[in-house]
This record gives sequence, C-alpha cells and structure tokens, in this order.
Amino acid sequence: MRWLYPFLFGTLISSVYGSLLVIATNETYADRIASFGPRLTENGKVGYLVEPTADPTGCRKVEAPCLDWVALVRRGGCSFITKVRNMQQSGAIAIAVGDPDHQSGWITMYAPGDTSDITIPSIFLAKSEYRALLYLSKVVDTPMMILLQLDDFITWPLLDILMIIFVSPSVMMIFIYISWRLRQKNRLKQLVAPVDVVSKLSTKRFSLEKLLENEAEECAICLEDYINGENLRVLPCRHDFHAFCVDAWLTTQKKFCPICKRDITCNPC
Ligand SMILES: [Zn+2]
Ligand SMILES: [Zn+2]
Repeated sequence: MRWLYPFLFGTLISSVYGSLLVIATNETYADRIASFGPRLTENGKVGYLVEPTADPTGCRKVEAPCLDWVALVRRGGCSFITKVRNMQQSGAIAIAVGDPDHQSGWITMYAPGDTSDITIPSIFLAKSEYRALLYLSKVVDTPMMILLQLDDFITWPLLDILMIIFVSPSVMMIFIYISWRLRQKNRLKQLVAPVDVVSKLSTKRFSLEKLLENEAEECAICLEDYINGENLRVLPCRHDFHAFCVDAWLTTQKKFCPICKRDITCNPC
C-alpha cells in the first residue's frame, strides 16, 4: 500500500509554489521553488534583485554588485546547479533563474547528485515574469529590493488541493476495502471444504432395523430424528448426519465434523 504515497502526493512534493514581491511597486510575480537547496522560511528572504551583467547566464562567478543581492540569471548555457553554485560563490543570498524565450511555463529545477553544499534558495521564473522583472530591475530604483516568499496553501492550484483533500483518501479507502474483501475471501476459503471433496464422502440409507447400538438416531445439526430410507452422509470420523445438513455445513460454515471437530479435508487425521 505504501507504494501509493509517492503517486498520490507527487504533485504536492514536486511543485512548491512561491512568489517574488517587488517592494517598490508592491507587485508579486509567481515563481517555482527548486527541488534542491534550503527551503524558504515563513518570513521569506529580502534582498536586491540584480542581473550579473558580466555573465547574465550565471555560468561563471562574478563580483558581487552589492550586499544581500539576489542573482537574476537567465536559463541556458549551463546546468541549473552550476548557476546556483556560481552565484552562491559570488555572494548571492538567493538566485532567480528566468526563462528568456521558452514557453514552457514554470518548471521545478532539479539537480543530480549531492547538493548538500547549496546554502541559498533558488527559484524559477517563467518567461513573462522573468522579462518583467529584468526590465524592472533596471528601471526601478537600483538595486531593486524584493521579497522571496513561499505561497500560502490557499494559493496553490485548485487541482492539487482537490487531489489531497478528496482523491487521496477515497483511493486509499477503496484499496483498503478491496484488500480487506480479498483477505476475507481467502480466509473463508481456508475455513470451508471444497464441494468436490464433500461430494466424494460416503453415504448410506438410514434403516431403523439395521441400527447398531452406538449409532445415532438423529441428525446432530438439525436435531430431527432420521426417517427410514433418508440419505445420510458419513464423515471419515464415522459420524453421520443428513446429507443436505452436513453438506451445507461443510461447504459454507466449517470443514470440521460438527460433533468431534475433525477436519474432513485432512486424511488421515
Ligand atoms: Zn439434519
Ligand atoms: Zn466426527
């Protein structure tokens, strides 16, 4: 059952939504937080958004333009993790990677291998947000102060919320119910005797005249007296019953003799 969790909560884990607030204009821009590096805290991170003009791709180290700077670099030229390492080593407190011309929307940045050396948060900006911020960073009072923040639960896409609240518990309940039914069925199968085994057990016609001293005169299941000529089923333990009484008992209730509890499928025991 545990294999279901990654599938059910995949959307939640793989997509962490954030936003970038430009303090001067009080406008926010949606972003996507990378899968590696430290998570943003509730207070977010304040810094100055600056494009490293010496290398706008962030594919090599640059000189820090100011204290507390957030590197605004564009996608391409090298891997995401290379950009992040370079900007971290260049003194940036965070990095925003923007899509300059792709139309792929927001993506979550992944990095292979060990990323435990990453100490700054990274975000990804889609094309329109990146372009707008790049423009603003050059015209609004330089350097432009911004706040990186994690979005509230309520601003997550509706589909993710619905998935978590409704679909996941329902799917779990259905799986639990199905596995419970299968277990019940298997348990029942082990408790009762197969019809073909029961039908092969010997039978006899009841005769009051030929009755021996120790033989029963009534069926221990329905407690009715035997009538001459009635069809009786004789179990391996020599106990007899009405054939219709004991057949129903063995195939739907228990595979044991109702009197001595001997297992009729176990031969010889
Ligand atoms: Zn009976
Ligand atoms: Zn018996």
